[in-house]
Parts: sequence; structure tokens; C-alpha cells
Amino acid sequence: MTNTSDITPIGLLTGKVVFITGASRGIGAAAARLFAAEGAAVVLAARSTESLQRIVTGIRAGGGVADAVTVDLADRASVRAAVDRVGELHGRLDGAFNNAGVGQQPGPLDTTGDEDIEQQFAVNFRAHWTAMTAEAALMRRDGGGAIVNTSSIGSRRANPELPAYGAMKRALNSITETAAVTWGAQGIRVNGITPGGTATEMIDAWEAATPGIVERINAMVPLGRMAEPHEVAEVAAWLLSDRASMVTGAIVPVDGGAGA
Ligand code: NAP
Repeated sequence: MTNTSDITPIGLLTGKVVFITGASRGIGAAAARLFAAEGAAVVLAARSTESLQRIVTGIRAGGGVADAVTVDLADRASVRAAVDRVGELHGRLDGAFNNAGVGQQPGPLDTTGDEDIEQQFAVNFRAHWTAMTAEAALMRRDGGGAIVNTSSIGSRRANPELPAYGAMKRALNSITETAAVTWGAQGIRVNGITPGGTATEMIDAWEAATPGIVERINAMVPLGRMAEPHEVAEVAAWLLSDRASMVTGAIVPVDGGAGA
């Protein structure tokens, strides 16, 4: 079972302009590096401007094309402005990886606070809706494109420990499928991925709030371990590429078999 981050790039995304949210760390940062290595010009978005700049500098040092845009997904105007910035920089958009997300305070639904519910709605659901419509408008100018939304294994069934997170991720699956059907005739493919446990700061935060959760997650994975961020990014890269030309409306598990 290989888990290697030094797979030779094959130019999977050569010539494409790809926008990535949540690119300051975790899965999004891994995606930024991978997509750039696969030939894309990437535009990285998140709130942490300094982290984005560090990643941009690294990609440029390796000969890639990268820019950063600061965005707060809780703010609809900020989301639209970030997508507009891609248009200003490149005049086109071929791919979008709507990947940013935030965890909730773990706990049963009777104790989930309104603030958590509202943040989950704004950042994990509404932001993706806003981003997708802006992205599709830009993609249509050049005959289409591809969108990938990061959902979660936590969207697939009851989620007693992260109820608001699970609900908003399931809602994201719904608009992913709806967008695929609505925009298919316009040449825009829309897919989702549902990662299982992935070794990022999001899991570190969950472990801090719920000690032992990492061990419990690992025990549920047939492949016996968490994903590394780049392994999740690989699936998004393929879905964004022309190699996935007949795939749309799919919600693809990237969970080592945990959801099977
Ligand atoms: P992470 O390391 O915590 O990264 C989250 C990213 O989202 C960061 O780049 C963060 O950037 C950005 N973000 C959060 N709130 C934002 C906001 N209001 N505005 C703009 N950007 C915001 O988490 P990750 O594990 O890589 O998560 C990536 C995606 O995978 C999320 O959608 C998550 O739900 C999903 N996922 C993760 C796992 C897992 O086990 N790790 C499992 C299933 C699904 P800033 O803080 O700089 O803004």
C-alpha cells in the first residue's frame, strides 16, 4: 500500500487555471502544491495571508504559477471578490476546488450552540453555494470547467458527535449534485469528495477536544490509517482534469474504505 508524496507529475492539469479555497494548510495546501506541479496556474484562497504567501513563494521557487487572495468565507462579498480576482489575474477559470471548511465544537445535537450552527451554515455550506455560482459564471465564458467540493465522510450517515457539521456537509452534497445537473449542458462538471480522517490541524483540534478520537477513527479504516492530505488532493486533481470528462454529480469517498 503506497503512500508516497513523490509521485512523478504527469501534467494532469497543464494549462488550467485553478482556484483553491482552504489553501493555507491541510488538504488545500497539499492541493495547491500538487495542482501546480501538475501544470496548473493556481490561485490560493484563505484568511491567513502569510501562510498563503509562503506556499505561493514555494510554488514559484519550483517554477510554478501561483497567486494568493485573502478571503473570509463567512462573508459573501469576500467570496465573490475572491473569484473576481481570479478573473482579473487570468481572465478565465478552468477549475475550482471549494475545499475550505471549519469543524464544530464536538457534542450532541441538544447542546450544539446557535453560533456553531450559524458558522457551519455560513462557512461549510453557503460559501460554497456563493463560490460555485461565481465560478460557474467565469467558467461559462470559455465553454465550461470543473468544480470539486470537499464534503466529508461525516455527511454520509447520522453524525451524533458533529451534528451541525454533518448536516451542512450533506447539504453540500445536495447542491453539488444539483449544480452538476443544472450546469451539465454548459460544459461544467461538478463533483464532491468525502474524505475520511485526514492528518491535518482539523483532526488535531478534534483530538484536543475529544481525546482518543484519532485512535477510534483509525480503528474504523480498513486500510488501517488516516489519509495524508496529498492523498485526498490527488482525487480532486483527477476530478478537475480532462481525464474525468464523463464524471459529474459524483460524491467520491476518499476514506480508506471507512464508509464501505
Ligand atoms: P484545516 O487544516 O483545518 O484547513 C482548513 C482550511 O479552511 C484552512 O486553509 C483555513 O484557512 C480554511 N478556512 C476555514 N475557515 C475559513 C473561512 N471562514 N474563510 C476562509 N477560509 C477558511 O482542515 P482540512 O482537514 O485541511 O480540511 C479541508 C476540508 O476537508 C474541509 O472542508 C473539511 O471539512 C474537510 N474534511 C477534513 C477531514 C479531516 O479529517 N481532516 C475529513 C473530512 C473532510 P484560514 O484559517 O487561513 O482561513
